[in-house]
Amino acid sequence: MPYLLNHILRIMEVSVFNRRFEQPMVLISFDVESPVDSYDNDFTKAKIAGVKNRIGLKKLIDLSERYETPFTLFCTGHALLKECKGHNLHVNIYKKNPKYGFHVGNYSWHYLDPASDYTQYPEFYYGDLIERFKKSNIGHEIASHSFSHIPYALVDDNTVYKDLSRSFEVFETFLSEKPFSFSFPYNLADKYHILSKFGIKICRIGHEVTNPITLRGGILAIRTHITDFALNDSLNSWIKIIDKIKKRKYLLNWYLHPASLYDEQKFNVFWQIISYLKRQEINMLTFRELYNILKQEL
Ligand SMILES: [Zn+2]
Ligand SMILES: [Zn+2]
Repeated sequence: MPYLLNHILRIMEVSVFNRRFEQPMVLISFDVESPVDSYDNDFTKAKIAGVKNRIGLKKLIDLSERYETPFTLFCTGHALLKECKGHNLHVNIYKKNPKYGFHVGNYSWHYLDPASDYTQYPEFYYGDLIERFKKSNIGHEIASHSFSHIPYALVDDNTVYKDLSRSFEVFETFLSEKPFSFSFPYNLADKYHILSKFGIKICRIGHEVTNPITLRGGILAIRTHITDFALNDSLNSWIKIIDKIKKRKYLLNWYLHPASLYDEQKFNVFWQIISYLKRQEINMLTFRELYNILKQEL
């Protein structure tokens, strides 16, 4: 048995999935950010990443329409735009984070922002595609992944406050709604008191806590189980996990990036996983829907 599969099946026996629900549930979300939502300055690399994002998003639209499966799309405000006049943000990182390569100092964000639109630079603006998700009648949830994809845990409160305000502005202007759910850039969870001021109700966090669901600053925090295809991309492994989730009535929180669906083989496995979940009649829901199920307990 592959190591990772073995590992996750073992974890499922102990702490991670230690909670049972009335029905098995699978929460699949995508983090959607533009490659320019970064301090990176490698244009070619960003362009390739952006092309992959766009192709992945288009494949996801086709699949969700075929199976009528709702996903939560955590989007940066910038990725939601169809055009912009250029962004340039000076970010002061005051806490280092070697895992993601952050040192203390000033960063120039949106360095590669082309100040253009999705017809000229389709790889950097996804507003047209997100609109298609939103207009489908499948019930996708468009949620916030910040505006600029800055690491909330490593900057001061004021920077987070401004960034979240901009994310909310974009949501209200282009989607006529306020974001309900949130995922942290780099999965670095912090600043719950600010999220709660903005009315965020539920968020996705990393793998670091013991309980699958905790309440932080009044916000439901749902722990991640699997990122992208970290498990591996063999369908058999996924079927074993899904069968266990169904039998034990667990919640599985799996998140991916659209670019992971660019690869044909991975997309094919993803397609078959969704098809299997459908056949097994497992409830696939969005973060907002999960909140509505859990809120009675708050
Ligand atoms: Zn911009
Ligand atoms: Zn992200």
